[in-house]
Order: sequence, then C-alpha cells, then structure tokens
Amino acid sequence: MKTIQAIRGMRDILPEQTGWWRRMERQLYAALAQFGYQEIRTPILEPTELFKRSIGEETDIVEKEMYTFEDRDGSKLTLRPEGTAAVVRSYIENSQWQKEPLSRWYYMGPMFRHERPQKGRYRQFYQVGVELLGAEAPAADVELIDVMLQCMGAIGLQGFTLELNSLGCMSCRPSYREKLQIFLKKNQEKLCDNCRRRMDTNPLRVLDCKVNTCRQVGEEAPKILDHLCQDCGTHFQTVREGIEALSIAYHINHRMVRGLDYYTRTTFELLADGLGAQNAVAAGGRYDGLVSALGGSQMPAVGFAAGLDRILLKLLETLQKPETPESIFVVTRGPGAWPAGLAVMQNLRNKGLVVRSDVRQGSIKAQMKRADKDGARFVLVLGEDEVAEGAVTVKDMKAAPDSADKQKKIARDALTSYLLEKLSVANGVGK
Ligand code: ATP
Ligand code: MG
Repeated sequence: MKTIQAIRGMRDILPEQTGWWRRMERQLYAALAQFGYQEIRTPILEPTELFKRSIGEETDIVEKEMYTFEDRDGSKLTLRPEGTAAVVRSYIENSQWQKEPLSRWYYMGPMFRHERPQKGRYRQFYQVGVELLGAEAPAADVELIDVMLQCMGAIGLQGFTLELNSLGCMSCRPSYREKLQIFLKKNQEKLCDNCRRRMDTNPLRVLDCKVNTCRQVGEEAPKILDHLCQDCGTHFQTVREGIEALSIAYHINHRMVRGLDYYTRTTFELLADGLGAQNAVAAGGRYDGLVSALGGSQMPAVGFAAGLDRILLKLLETLQKPETPESIFVVTRGPGAWPAGLAVMQNLRNKGLVVRSDVRQGSIKAQMKRADKDGARFVLVLGEDEVAEGAVTVKDMKAAPDSADKQKKIARDALTSYLLEKLSVANGVGK
C-alpha cells in the first residue's frame, strides 16, 4: 500500500531534535521575562480579511503565499502567515489599551506560507515575535532591538549583522514615493517584469527585489533617509543614539523596506553569517498605523519576529547537544519481582527522578542491554531474593570496576536517599 507523506514544505520535528527546540524556547522565555514581556497565544486560523487589511494586498504574502480556504459557511479563513496581525486584532478586541498604557507581548508558534521549500524555508515554520504597543518614543524601538539581540545571545547565536533603515511616516513617505517612482520610470527597462508592475502599485518594494539588475537600480535610487520629515529624522537619529549607547554594531541599508505594508519609521533586520540565501533570521520595525487600520484607536507600536528554524540551523553548526539528565533503569528477574519493581519506580519518579524499564519483560540479559543502550547511570536489579529481603541491587554504571559502589545491595527504604544524593550531584541540584 502507498504510504502517506507529510505535506510538502511541512516537516516533522522528531524526538531526537525536540531537545534542541525546547532548550531554545526555554532560553527565549527567560530572556523575554527579563524585559518584562508576557506571552499571548492567538488562534492559528484567522479571517482572511485580517491579513489582507494589515499586511496589504500588494505583498508577496497576500498575493501568493497564504493558505486560504472556505469554512463550511463559506467564510474565508487563512492559516496565519505571521503573528503581528493577530496580536493587534486581539489587542483591539480585548480593549487592551484601557487596561495598561504599554503592552509588552510575545508569541511563539507555527506560521504558514506557501513558498518554494528549500533549506531554511518551509511552508510551516516557527517564529518568536515580540511586540511593544503604546509607545511612539524612539526608546521603544531601541528596547525592541535590544530585546532581539539579547534573545539571540541567550540562545547562543553568534555572528550576525544588524541592518537599519527608516521608512518615514504618512506625511513624508508619499512625496518620497513619488520621487522614487519618477526615478524608476526612467530606469524601467532595467527592471524585472514584476518590478515594472510594482513600480506603479508599490514602488518601495522594487528596492528589495533580489534580481541583480533591479538591485543595481535600487542602489542608485533616491534614498528615503534623505527625504524624511523633521520628526522622522529626529526619531531615527535618536534610535541610532540608543543603539550606539548599547554598543550594538549596525549598518544602514537604504534598500531595506520590508515586505509588509504596515511598517512606518524604523525598520530592522538581523542577518546571520553563513546561512546562504536564507540568511534573514529576524526582522521587524515600527507600525504606528496598524492598530488604527484594523479599527482600533491611533496607537503606536513596534515589533519583530525571528525565524526559529533558521536560527536552529545555525546553532546546530556550533553548539553541543543538550545534556539529558542521568537516569535510572529498573530490571526485574521473574514475574514475582515485577510488582515490586513497579512500586520502586513509582516511588523514585515521585521524588523527581528519571526512571525507565524495559516493558517488553524479556530476559535479564536483554533488559541489561536495553539499560546500557539507554545510557542509564544506575541499574536497579530486583530478583526474588531482593524482594524477599526488601532490598535492591544497585549497579553504578559509571563507577570504576573495583569500586565498592559498582554493585551494592541497598535496603528499599534507604534507596531513594542514596540515589537522590548521587544524582543530585550528577545532574546539578535543583535542576
Ligand atoms: P524572507 O525574505 O527570507 O522571505 P521575510 O521578509 O518574508 O523573509 P518576515 O515576514 O520578516 O520574513 O519573517 C521574519 C522571519 O521569519 C524571517 O527573518 C525568517 O527568519 C523567518 N521566515 C520567514 N519566512 C520563512 C519560511 N518560509 N521558512 C522559514 N523561516 C521563515
Ligand atoms: Mg518571505
């Protein structure tokens, strides 16, 4: 029979890899908590309209990357392609600004985009996203960039470049857009078909086109930073001062406009060395117009999202595998010893220890082999003799062959404290 395969671009994260994921997630939670950010969990499905209105119709995501389908009543649903739109929907729906003037939120979970799958690019991928809602001041932008870099540091990511730009605001961007359009029209024979079309509808997107000739045109195009209004200019200058005060290295990228329509003012991207074409690991910026565009009040905000799949690819190049705690394996000889073995295991697990057995109940030799394969530190042997004596034979697999600890008979009521002491040293107390 033909077997069923996972959907293209969607992959399993197998138990041998989830240890890496859990460690990364734990480190992120801890770093975010240090800045006072709290987690929000929103549904994976949202009304399609939410993404059309927030991300914008003229974007790669909305034009060709969304998983959209009809619900039973005919309404259109979309698997979330990113997190900010849903966060803002929730922020408005729950009248969050009435509860607190500043909201520091983060989310973590799967996103879905119908892209061509390749290394570091999947159709189901994972992001951590951080949003700071309620502050227009440059200090908010600086905090977000600080959070982003602290998060990367916490999980051990090294070797990256921060790129920075400003997209201006609704008062200065339109006139820049016009100037850019005039320039692009003059150079349109050098642009790809896609950009020739976008030149009219979304000229800023031409700047981040990856086609070589378009890039060259983009390099020579008028720069948005030269056309910011005074407020946007001062704002951006202050953001730079803050980043410099934190000794964060960065460089200005005039061509970074980000794919989403809702960005205003500061935009930033974090590029990791050595990831090839898929080297953007995190990106974000200010989106002062989004809350009101989705029907809320005028509410400034800034955020970023980091791609966890790519970060992990990079981490796997350098980091050591997370350590598993030392464990115990219980071997029972004969059917009479099995119930006693169960009670011993239950007792040890209740004390927080990691305990396994070979539930196939094969020969003692087969069980010992399993214990060895599992890398158990202590093997507890219970035969009819031990059961009669109320004791357990404890083998320390790490002890030297001539050591007294190599094999010891221990009374069952002394067993827990004996193992706890040995294992708390090995695993680090309180871990
Ligand atoms: P790219 O230019 O690589 O397509 P993007 O601008 O579409 O990225 P964003 O929407 O800014 O990406 O998402 C933030 C981060 O999420 C990216 O920097 C990247 O690390 C990650 N990401 C985006 N799309 C994918 C994907 N299909 N597979 C894996 N990670 C992704
Ligand atoms: Mg993309």
